[in-house]
Amino acid sequence: MVSVFCHADIAVGLKPFLAVGTAGTTSTGAIDPLLDMAAICQQFGLWFHIDGAYGAFAAMLPEAPEELKVLQLADSVAIDPHKWLYAPLEAGCLLVCDQRTLIDAFSFRPDYYHLADRDEALPNYYEYGPQNSRGFRALKVWLGLRQAGRLGYEQMLCDDICLAQKLYDQARKHPELEAATYNLSITTFRYVPPSVTPNFPGREAYLHRLNQALLERLQASGEFFLSNAVVNGRFLLRVCVVNFRTTLADIEQLPDIVARNGRLLDGDLRPDFLTTYSGH
Ligand SMILES: *Cc1c(COP(=O)(O)O)cnc(C)c1O
Repeated sequence: MVSVFCHADIAVGLKPFLAVGTAGTTSTGAIDPLLDMAAICQQFGLWFHIDGAYGAFAAMLPEAPEELKVLQLADSVAIDPHKWLYAPLEAGCLLVCDQRTLIDAFSFRPDYYHLADRDEALPNYYEYGPQNSRGFRALKVWLGLRQAGRLGYEQMLCDDICLAQKLYDQARKHPELEAATYNLSITTFRYVPPSVTPNFPGREAYLHRLNQALLERLQASGEFFLSNAVVNGRFLLRVCVVNFRTTLADIEQLPDIVARNGRLLDGDLRPDFLTTYSGH
C-alpha cells in the first residue's frame, strides 16, 4: 500500500519522506504490517516512525507477535510509559536511533543562554525536543523499572494479555454477546439480544443505539469502566487491560454484568425503536 502511494507521489513530482506505522492501534490493538513497511522505507529512503504508544512494550515478551520485533528497524518509536508501563499520567517518550537527528531539529543556542560546548556539557534536554523547562518525569518511569524489573513487567504484561484473551473466549461463548476483536490486551465485543435476529428490521442501527446506551449505563453504574471502539461501522464495547490490579475475578464477572444491563436496556429501548423505525 505504502509503495503504491510512493510511486504515485513520485510520478507527480512529490517527494515522500516519512511513513508511520502503528504498533497497537488505540481502538483494537491491531498492528500494521511493519515488516513490509520497513522494507518499503528502505527502498525509498523514508524515515520510518512507529507509533507504539500503547503496544510497543509487548515487544519485550518472548511470545511477542512477529511484527512487533520490527521495532528495531524503525528510525523512531513513540512509547507511553503511562500506558503499559503503568506509570502515573503523564510520561511520553520518543526513542530514536540517532540522537543527532534531534539536535539538528530542535537545538537552538540564543545569546541569553550561557552554554558550555556541547561536548563538555551535560545534556541540555531542550536541545532534544520542543520543551525547555520540564519536570522530572523520568523519575517515576525509572522507579517502576527498578521496582518491577524486566521480568516483573513481562509477568504483568502477560497477565493483562491473558485476561483480555479470556474475556474474548467468554464473549464468544456467551449467547448474548458477539465477540469482535482481540489483539494484545484489548478485546472488543457487543451485546446482541438473541431475539434481534439477522433479519430484524434496522438491526445494525438498533444494536448501535443499544450498545451506546449500554456503555453509558455501565460507566455510570461504577461497576465497570469500559470504553468503546467503532469497527467497520459497528459500535463495540472495548476492554483494554492496562492495570496490574485487574483480576481474573473481575473479568469473569463482566459478561454477565453486561448481559444483565443489556437486557434491561433492550426492554426500555426496543418498543420506541420499532415504532420510529417502522414509521420511516
Ligand atoms: C494513547 C495513544 C496515543 C496518544 O498518546 P497520549 O500520549 O496518551 O496522548 C497515540 N497513539 C496511540 C496508538 C495510542 O494508543
